[in-house]
Amino acid sequence: MTPRFEESFKDLKVTVLAGGVGGAKLLVGLDKTLNPGKLNAIVNTGDDFFHFGLHIAPDIDSVCYALAGLSDPVHGWGRKDESWQVLEELRRIGAPDWFALGDKDLAWQLERQRLLNAGMSLTEVTEHFCATFGIPSRVLPMCDEPAPTRIRTQNGEWLGFQDYFVRQKCKPEVAEISLTGGKKIAPSQAAERALREADLVIFAPSNPWVSIDPILSLKGVREILNEKVVVAVSPIIQNSALKGPAAKMFRELGIMPSSEAVREHYIDLLDGFVFDDLDQEDSKKWQASDIISESFQTIMKDEKDKVALSEAVISLGARILVEK
Ligand code: GDP
Ligand code: CA
Repeated sequence: MTPRFEESFKDLKVTVLAGGVGGAKLLVGLDKTLNPGKLNAIVNTGDDFFHFGLHIAPDIDSVCYALAGLSDPVHGWGRKDESWQVLEELRRIGAPDWFALGDKDLAWQLERQRLLNAGMSLTEVTEHFCATFGIPSRVLPMCDEPAPTRIRTQNGEWLGFQDYFVRQKCKPEVAEISLTGGKKIAPSQAAERALREADLVIFAPSNPWVSIDPILSLKGVREILNEKVVVAVSPIIQNSALKGPAAKMFRELGIMPSSEAVREHYIDLLDGFVFDDLDQEDSKKWQASDIISESFQTIMKDEKDKVALSEAVISLGARILVEK
């Protein structure tokens, strides 16, 4: 049974590790649940790449558009009420069209590149975006340096992440994942501070391999998390991902995808774990451990679901904080 949500929990300082679409859904709920200024989101930049000379940050954009109430409800990425004139013209003239950027989205990409060229960091540009759209929570890129994720396929080829994810539609079989360009990179100062100052850290129901692991692999992050109360939400429900390659990646890396596998993936860091009600029967096999695991309705179809799950995760975290 999930403990009851209390008014005082709204003042907890919560820092979330997140990727794009799955992360954004929970962040929207947390943003509505917590008092303004209490939520920090540290967002994966391992998917970032250059396209037409522009720094594209897909997970940052998914999170920012969602928190601003501007995201496309069908895709979960990109803008709602979008037009596609530029993409159609690119297609007509035979230019690369595999990465879809709508016109409004593209305007933001142009402006981001202009500000980066003028010397602003990705952290500063993202802060500017959030201020422009009146987002009360802080969205923090995990770092300001390039930290690309790369995928080695079963036939030995290394692919850039967007090449794998978008151009090849996650079809190649994954043999190995290289994070942060194979270098040891520090988190941004702002991201590190958000971790240190957090009362509670939440791993969003994002892809463990390519959304959360890049953040966990940054210098010092695991050490800080060892001192924190950490609760994860499973992105895997009934052995499947709701979207994207998370379950496929588990399988190709030799692990049966399940809520249990997600918990195992993070086991050194977790104090609490939230998995879907649909996996309750299965969970009887792995419940007994020092990680407090609770089931909840974790499929977030609308705002009500997002807020309810947010309250449940915070309540579990608050209970662990009291017990510690
Ligand atoms: P990406 O960077 O856009 O791929 O997004 P994330 O890594 O943040 O999220 C992808 C994961 O979100 C997938 O593994 C999905 O299973 C998971 N996901 C998406 N929607 C939901 C949801 O409503 N509930 C849960 N529990 N997981 C979700
Ligand atoms: Ca992503």
